[in-house]
Amino acid sequence: MQTMFTLDQKDLPRRWYNVLPDLPTPLDAPLHPGTREPIEPEALLSLFARTCVEQEVATDRWIDIPDPVLDVYRHWRPTPLLRATRLERALNTPAHIYLKYEGASPTGSHKTNTAVPQAYYNKLEGTKNLTTETGAGQWGSALAFACQTFGLGCTVFMVRSSYDQKPYRKAMMSLFGARVHASPSAETQAGRDALARNRETPGSLGLAISEAVEAARSGTGTKYSLGSVLNHVLLHQTIIGLEAERQMEMAGESPDVVVACVGGGSNFGGLVLPLYRAARERGRTTRFVAVEPEACPSLTRGEYRYDFGDTAKTTPLLRMHTLGHDFVPPPIHAGGLRYHGMAPIVSRLVEDGVVEPVAYGQLDVFASAVLFARTEGIIPAPETAHAVHAAVQIARECAATGDRKTILIGFSGHGHFDMSAYSAYLAGELARAEPADRVYVRAAAAAATRLYC
Ligand SMILES: *Cc1c(COP(=O)(O)O)cnc(C)c1O
Repeated sequence: MQTMFTLDQKDLPRRWYNVLPDLPTPLDAPLHPGTREPIEPEALLSLFARTCVEQEVATDRWIDIPDPVLDVYRHWRPTPLLRATRLERALNTPAHIYLKYEGASPTGSHKTNTAVPQAYYNKLEGTKNLTTETGAGQWGSALAFACQTFGLGCTVFMVRSSYDQKPYRKAMMSLFGARVHASPSAETQAGRDALARNRETPGSLGLAISEAVEAARSGTGTKYSLGSVLNHVLLHQTIIGLEAERQMEMAGESPDVVVACVGGGSNFGGLVLPLYRAARERGRTTRFVAVEPEACPSLTRGEYRYDFGDTAKTTPLLRMHTLGHDFVPPPIHAGGLRYHGMAPIVSRLVEDGVVEPVAYGQLDVFASAVLFARTEGIIPAPETAHAVHAAVQIARECAATGDRKTILIGFSGHGHFDMSAYSAYLAGELARAEPADRVYVRAAAAAATRLYC
């Protein structure tokens, strides 16, 4: 039986898919952090490359991928689609389980899909340096690689808990020429304020974003780059779903359920948005399941409202599912999922009933990740393991009911830099990270009967 489906390089998609004209409900405009009035795209030009700002509000359904970006993509794309037959056998399930493998990229995750075009557009427009934040280190590595490729300087603020857990991610960023600071750092006012409040803070993505934005505003020829959440990031990631759509056809199947993990929503959106379009066009019903950690449950327990993207309240206000911009999630090993908010596009699709959110605890997630590694020989990143766990749950249900579903996993990255987390799990030392003690707004299944607890 064929278990690997690879596209030829000549079949690499040449356009990204923009979902904005196809959303069932249009997005609410971002608001200015000071005036709370709708923000003009022009106001974002001090921070982001012009092309990225244009793509943020683009109305064209298809957007050409520039040739120099395609040239870099070809170093690892198209990525493989694999069928996880040994996992299926281990679960004794009639379900067919596929994974779209983004671990094949130079830095081991999907993040390079947007790092490369963002660095390219900045280079083209005369930027000299990019600043950014990173949680697990995946985004920082990807941007460091992309900046190195196009000859830009790169400064990364890395969330303290990950900085301590993952010294090799820092080494990788340095290897690609980036400057790396643990966040909160003494480099910025936002960082110094946070340290003054609590020297021992594990940090958060929201805080690291404040630092990176501040560093971009105070540097010359310096702009800021975001690895998730925004529309243009999800746009760049649609290359995943566009490839997967054709590879599923090669496999002679179409997915009944698509699962991917959500931190800010970019690998999920990248895989799901093109498949959502294809399903609608062909009149098929497909379930799209967004998997988040119980310790940072923005979709399942957050509120759908305007909020800041960062702790210091410097970014525009986005309407999204949020736990509050000051939320500091427990230091779980899936550092890339420790973000208080969610992509407005993914949030909107949850509100419109297109996307189903679920949340799992890290102990259950690691159990499935170990099963996956032992059967398939691929070690999932702790973030990716959330999607793997959801697929395992669905496949087990199929085993119980005899339902022969086709499940597609968005395999966002490998876990080769997460062996300390696996060691802790195998030694029985991994904590069950409960959501931090704070007031949540429960997004109840029936929106009409929201429970405030
Ligand atoms: C960053 C990251 C995520 C979470 O980010 P999204 O924008 O939600 O995709 C998930 N998996 C991996 C491997 C990551 O590096």
